[in-house]
Amino acid sequence: MKVLLVYPKYPDTYWSFRHAMPFIGKKAAFPPLGLLTVAAMLPQSWEMRLIDLNVEPLSDADIFRADYVFVSAMTVQRESARQVLSRCRDMRVKTVAGGPLFSTCHDEFPEANHLLLGEAEETLPRFLADLDKEAPQRLYRPEGRPDLSSTPIPKWSLIDMRHYASMNIQYSRGCPFDCEFCDITQLFGHRPRTKNPEQVIAELEALYAAGWRGGVFFVDDNFIGDKGKLKKEVLPAILSWMKVRGYPFFFYTEASINLADDPQLIEMMVAAGFQEVFIGIESPEEDSLKETGKLQNYNRDLVASVHYLQRAGLQVQGGFIVGFDSDSPAIFEKQFRFIQESGIVTAMVGVLMVLRGTKLYNRLCREGRIISTCSGNNTDTALTYIPKMGPEVLIEGYQRLMRTIYSPEHFYARLMTFLKQYRLLGPSPFSMLQRRDIRAFFRSVLFLGILGKERLHYWKIFLWTLVRKPRLLPLTITLTIYGFHFRTVAEEICGSHGRDR
Ligand code: SF4
Repeated sequence: MKVLLVYPKYPDTYWSFRHAMPFIGKKAAFPPLGLLTVAAMLPQSWEMRLIDLNVEPLSDADIFRADYVFVSAMTVQRESARQVLSRCRDMRVKTVAGGPLFSTCHDEFPEANHLLLGEAEETLPRFLADLDKEAPQRLYRPEGRPDLSSTPIPKWSLIDMRHYASMNIQYSRGCPFDCEFCDITQLFGHRPRTKNPEQVIAELEALYAAGWRGGVFFVDDNFIGDKGKLKKEVLPAILSWMKVRGYPFFFYTEASINLADDPQLIEMMVAAGFQEVFIGIESPEEDSLKETGKLQNYNRDLVASVHYLQRAGLQVQGGFIVGFDSDSPAIFEKQFRFIQESGIVTAMVGVLMVLRGTKLYNRLCREGRIISTCSGNNTDTALTYIPKMGPEVLIEGYQRLMRTIYSPEHFYARLMTFLKQYRLLGPSPFSMLQRRDIRAFFRSVLFLGILGKERLHYWKIFLWTLVRKPRLLPLTITLTIYGFHFRTVAEEICGSHGRDR
């Protein structure tokens, strides 16, 4: 059997980091972890090839050569996924589709021959058994949530790691919280399911053996869903492994804000090599947090929590949302003040997304407020629901907010706030420098320090870091490059791309 695994293209979102890639000579931020894991579950006697459309194009010959084309996609990859499926259908090559996009919207894809909903550990074996009997069904629905102890190590040999800025690993699925807009709990449930420490170490070892050094992203939606297991088993195992291997990686992940309530957990994460954490802050507006069920953020000093994490050695990336029913037009100014004060350099601000299958989607359907399908891109200004504050007010306020927070003046002011708060613990970042970092430095000097409209801000922060916190210089350069990516995305959102650069 010849199988082609295809990862569709994603648009220019915050998470694509597309505009930062040329600085480090990479093509994409992360490899397609789901497809690589699926590949490891397929019969290993099959001939397999993987094409990531974010890295290389897909030719008709590639499709023709395959007996089956497997496509895995998130919601944000909808358009590209549809194109791949249509091409395969037109060429009469059978397709198997899975992943979050198809799990929530399978009825929108008549082009697909076989749809595997839910988690592959559950549905893929049934599909393979039916295929063996030459009687595969069209639709496989999950009958439960699988235990992750049997999840194999991703088949890393299918990609060229040199194309990617970071590798990734998944330790857990599911989240104990219940935010109204979130589809994670619909897809993976409330009870966090985790891999065991031996699996995590085996995955790190596989990346190490494949020659990877540098960043590794734990893609879990909430890494601290099961704090007890992390503290007792997983973090001590990671720390021991990192010591033995000489700290070849640094880690980043996503977590809920209650991480700030647990100094021991933070200390263990930092010691194990975690440097960055993405947190869904969502809103400084208490009524909006309550409305959306973000109770872990409610009634707390969010700025103080962020500063605490920064001082403890974790850089905080933040997710922010505008467009809740409780948001008044004053929300844009409140978000701006919060973001600046917190020193969250990479603030991913989006319009409320109404994803199918979420409690929010069901409520807005009942209220007759859904107008179209959500693209999965939170910077998309084509509204899919009727907001209480009025569509024009929302979009105009959102664009204004984006223009402001990523203007050089405010971006660099925020970066300075962060650098003053942040305490870098662990090995010197200079010891981990690679050729790509040197290249990124020279490119940042050229494109931001000489040609960029932010050049005065760039040199000011560069010199400040050099004199006051020289250990942070590599991070400062990285963040100025991220700033360029986010500003370019912001300009695209505001329709002013390239106008004043
Ligand atoms: S904390 Fe994050 S992952 Fe968990 S339900 Fe809320 S938005 Fe989803």
